[in-house]
Parts: sequence; structure tokens; C-alpha cells
Amino acid sequence: MPGFSPTLNMSEQAPPEQIVRVALDLPLRRLFDYRPPDDEPLSAGDIGYRVCVPFGQRQKIGIIVALGSDSDLPPGQLKPLTAVLRDVPPLPRSWFRLATFCAAYYHAPLGQVMLSTLPAGLRSVAPARPRPHRALAERAPAQAPPSLTADQQLALRVMAANAPGFHAYLLHGVTGSGKTEVYLRLIGRILEAGLQSLLLVPEINLTPQLEERVAARFPGAGLVSLHSGLGEAARSRNWRAALRGEARIVLGTRLAVFAPLPELGLIVVDEEHDASYKQQDGIRYSARDLAVFRARDNGLPIVLGSATPSLESWANAAAEDGRGRYQLLSLPQRAVEGARLPTVRTIDTRLDKPRDGLSATLLMAIEQRLAHGEQSLVFLNRRGYAPVMTCVACGWTSHCHRCAANLVLHLADHCLRCHHCGYQTRVSRQCPTCGNQDLSAFGRGTQRIEAVLGERFPQARILRVDRDSASNRRHWNALLASIRNGEADILVGTQMLAKGHDFPRLTLVGAVAPDAALFAADWRAPERLFAQLMQVAGRAGRAEWPGEVLLQTQFPDHPLYQALLRHDYRSFAAMLLREREQARFPPYAYQAMLRAEAPRMAEALSFLAAARACPALDRNPQVSSYDPVPMRLSRRASLERAQLLVESVSRPALQVFLDQWVSELEAQPVPSRLHWHLEVDPVEL
Ligand code: ADP
Ligand code: ZN
Ligand code: ZN
Repeated sequence: MPGFSPTLNMSEQAPPEQIVRVALDLPLRRLFDYRPPDDEPLSAGDIGYRVCVPFGQRQKIGIIVALGSDSDLPPGQLKPLTAVLRDVPPLPRSWFRLATFCAAYYHAPLGQVMLSTLPAGLRSVAPARPRPHRALAERAPAQAPPSLTADQQLALRVMAANAPGFHAYLLHGVTGSGKTEVYLRLIGRILEAGLQSLLLVPEINLTPQLEERVAARFPGAGLVSLHSGLGEAARSRNWRAALRGEARIVLGTRLAVFAPLPELGLIVVDEEHDASYKQQDGIRYSARDLAVFRARDNGLPIVLGSATPSLESWANAAAEDGRGRYQLLSLPQRAVEGARLPTVRTIDTRLDKPRDGLSATLLMAIEQRLAHGEQSLVFLNRRGYAPVMTCVACGWTSHCHRCAANLVLHLADHCLRCHHCGYQTRVSRQCPTCGNQDLSAFGRGTQRIEAVLGERFPQARILRVDRDSASNRRHWNALLASIRNGEADILVGTQMLAKGHDFPRLTLVGAVAPDAALFAADWRAPERLFAQLMQVAGRAGRAEWPGEVLLQTQFPDHPLYQALLRHDYRSFAAMLLREREQARFPPYAYQAMLRAEAPRMAEALSFLAAARACPALDRNPQVSSYDPVPMRLSRRASLERAQLLVESVSRPALQVFLDQWVSELEAQPVPSRLHWHLEVDPVEL
């Protein structure tokens, strides 16, 4: 940008006309030039303020990115800004660098990155009425920390011994090993140093418990949360508090990685392996990866914590020669005195054939827990009653007319529902094609397991926990409370229940149908299955009662289950990494996915074929491409979907290519109803 610098050009002569360069929320890879308001020259200190600018017939909110004296536009065409909004301090330079990196790395327009990460109230032209934020901490009493275990002490000592500056730590600790306690101690140190902490968690569902815990530890410290479950006003308020430096601890989900924190001193990413750190639409960023950039760019420590780290992070930490880019810290045991990891066993379903999905061994184990007044959790990662309805007479199946997917039977509210587009219709008594009245439900979801258990144990109090029963925060908190108060004997749940919750009376976990993911087409499926089963197993036996985990499987000898029996993440990760290295899959290669959606598959595929023929691919021999193919869910909401994978063993080479490719793609004419997007480091293939 010739003529543009963050500082003003102070010359002896009459100052040249001032130009303000503004980022706007538009799908265009450029910034927009304006003049300062007529009576108000701007100075370098104004960079980072939001502005209101005329755009076409409307007013838009933008952010001042630079001031300068040169513009591509002739001076006569420059319009003045309508107003500089100084209701909050200017966004700090570190925030600009993060947004700029995000835009460059994910090949997204800078203005979109910048504006889309602001709370809606700060993006809209209507003036918001700011109210002071309410720090949660002020309500809570202080809580004395427990004395540390030897492993926790060691981890903290290692971190304290490092010189200040960027350090990435991978805190690998089994479930219940006290990772959160380590985060709290670190945050304590950072508070004492007068700096802000950013604590990222994967899901809103995890925040209430953690929020209480952090608030209880640091009363009056200025804790705020940032996640999509907050109302718009609360989100704006908390975001402002972060920017003003009033919030000293920010607890949030992936979008909070963009929270402006002028005095940031520490980043923690809890459950760093979790897929919800990846934004799945719009700007498809990984909050974990951006957090690592942010820590390095700001010269601060970052802690990535997990019982089952992502293979990407593990490969960064586990280098045997100690030259890993992350420093590995381990908490191999549960923190509470006497609490042990649960015993994990497989149930061979070839011998103990499940009836209605449940083997005799599992039923017996549940019965024992009932007799002792303990809780059981039956885990099945599929909600609804049955994944599909069929007609035995003519072979009709319940199929979504908008997607390449089945309609799932939800008996609880008598409907067939598409889990991809949300379409739903009432269950009819007869087959829509042949009129046969004998429709059958095929396969099993949580509602069906709930029903089967209800018949088998009529005296038991059964609670189903999935996205249908815990559809909002209020429902979810009510469910959690009744579980903790011992108002349920058997829980039937999806992975919603697997994460981070502490249920002291829970001593049995049964995984009903884990095999499905073993041979899935997505080569990341085993990594995810292992993490999920580790997490859900971690719910059992947290306190003085030992826990047991039963896995119903046809493949009890599979290395994944064998590693689970031994709680052996390390050897399983090592095995997967060897496979990935041989196959040249990530983390040993870097990938990007170009996806197209169109009313007809042929259009989507021919767009991708043209993309593959772009000169950028020829010019970058280090990058290879695969054939364009329909996506696994090849049709969603009446649009056909296809994808094209490109990869390279060199991340910089891939980035250079993507830059050229995106400009070539944007110059290509596309059919009016075709949409495409690029995803860097895709996780769902
Ligand atoms: P993680 O985050 O690894 O799952 P937590 O930090 O939630 O583990 O700790 C699990 C349980 O152990 C919690 O009930 C916590 O209060 C307890 N705990 C953590 N550290 C200690 C310690 N040093 N001494 C005693 N109990 C501890
Ligand atoms: Zn029929
Ligand atoms: Zn659908």
C-alpha cells in the first residue's frame, strides 16, 4: 500500500489531503478509502476506532486500518466519514495482527474477518446503549485451592522456570487429573502480574461449571464469559470489558479467540482436540491454531490441555529427541486421592448377542448399579428413535427430499426429521408409496434405547440427554442438576454427556454401538472415536467409587479397543501417526479443500474441474490435487455438493499456491446459483 503507514506523514509543507483506509464487512479482498469528517482531522491514535461510513445508499460500520495520503481514487470521489465512534477504545495493534493473519491464512477478506468477530451490537449502525458489565466473580465467595499433586507441581515448575515469552505447552492429563487446577494456578500468577488471561473451552455447555469454578477461585477478579449462548447485550458488554481491560479473565468458546485483550498474558485452550474449535461455516478458522499464532505473536505462554490431544498437537510435542515445538507436560494419574481410572472391558457381541441393542452383560451390570443406588450411563452417539423408517412390503425408506440422507424417526414428538437441513414431517401410519400399514423402525437411537431400558427396568428413573432433550441452556442446566442430585438412575446420552462433567454417583458407562466409526470412510474417524470413548469413560468413577466401562463390539481385538483397555493414548497415537506418515496424511501433509454447491451436480463438478485446470496448479509443482468428487453428504438442502482436495508437504508452498489460486478462482465466471468456498486444514473430509 504505497503512501500508507500507521503513522501520519508530518511534513513541513501544507499537509497533503488525508485519507482514511477502512475495513468493511464485504466479500471483497480490499479496503475502502474515505476522507476524515470535514471538521476533524484524524491522528495515528484513531487507527482501530470503528467508523460509520456512507456506502452506496446506506451507512455501514467499518474499522480504521490506516491513515495516509495516497489513494487510487481521485480526490474528488472520496467521501467523508460520517462519524468516528469513540464509545470504546481503539482496537489494539495485536488484534489487527491476529485478524490480518487469519485473513491471510484462511484466504478470507480482511474486512469480513474483522467485522464478523465483533459482537453484533458493535457492528450495527443503530447506537447501542452501553451498560456496565457485571463480573460474575463479585457474587462468589473465595475458595481455598487444594494442595497440588506431585505431577501438577512438576508441570507448574517447568512452566515457571522458562523465561518469559512465547512457549507452547501440551498438557496431557487423563480425565480428572487436575488439568483445570493447573490452569487456575497459572491464571492466578497472571493476575498477580497484572495481566489478562484468555481461557478457551469447546462448548457453551462446559462453561457454567467452569465459570463457577473460576469465579469461586478469583472473586472480584473481573471474570467475563464470551460465547454464543449469551444474549447480544451481554456479549457486547463483556467484549467491551475485555477491550477496556476491566475483564481480567475471559472465558469463552472459539469466537473468543478474537477478543481484544490489550494486556493479555496467557492463553489456555482446554480440550484442545475438540472439533468445535473449528468454525464450520463462514470463515472456517481453527480457534486453537489461531490461539497458538496469537501467543507466538504476542510473546506469551499458551497451554493446550487434553486427555486425548489432537494428533497434530501430539506430533508437535512428542518428538522423542526433545526438539518438539511444544513442550509436553503429563498428568498421568487422577488428582483425587484414591480415585482410579475405570476398568475398561469389551463385550464380544458375537458371543453375547445384544437384544434390542443391549447385551446381557451390560444389562446385568446396570442391574447391579440399580441395586446399589449408583448411576449408569448408556452412551450412543445417535439421537432420535431410529435412523430410518422402512416399509417391508415395498422397500420404501424415509428419505429427505432435500438431502442425500435419511429422515430420522423421532417418536417422542411423532415426526420424521432430517438432521442435516432440519426438514420435518409427521410420522404417517401408512407407507406413502404402497399404503402398507406395517412400517418398521430400523436401527437404534437414544430414544429407542431409552424405551428399551424403560421396559426392562420399569422401576428405574431414566434420563435421556441429547440435543433434543437439552435443546437450550435452561433445559441442559436442569438436566445436569437432576443428574447431580441423584434424581436419575440411568442416563442415556450422546457425546453431550461425555465432556467434562463430574457425576460423583456414576460408576458404569456402557458404549452400545461404537463399532460404526471403526471403518468409516473418514480417516480421522478412529482418532475421534478414541477421544470420545476416553472422554465418556472418564465420567465413570470420579470419586471414591471405582468405575467400570463396557464396550459392546464385534471386534474386541481391534487395536483401538485394546489401547482403551490400557488407557494407553500414547501407543494409540504413535500407531496412528505411523500410519499417517506412511500415507502422507496430516500432520505430515497440509491440505485445503475447495467445495462447490449448485442445484445440479454436473455444475459443481465442472466448476471444480475448471479450478483444477487453473494455471496456479501448474505453477506450483509442490502442490498436488485429487479428482473432484461428490461429498459424502452429496446433497444438502436441495444443493448438490462436491469437493476438490489439494495438498502439499510444505505449508508455505501450499499457502503461496492458495493465494494465486483464489485470485484465479475469483476471476472465473461461475453459474449464478453456484457457491464455492475454500477450507484450509479441513477436518471433515
Ligand atoms: P481435569 O481438568 O484434568 O479433568 P480437574 O481439574 O477437573 O481435572 O480435577 C478433577 C478433580 O480433582 C476435581 O474434583 C478437582 O477438584 C480435583 N483436584 C484437582 N487437583 C487436585 C489436588 N491437587 N488435590 C485434590 N483434588 C484435586
Ligand atoms: Zn410400502
Ligand atoms: Zn434434509
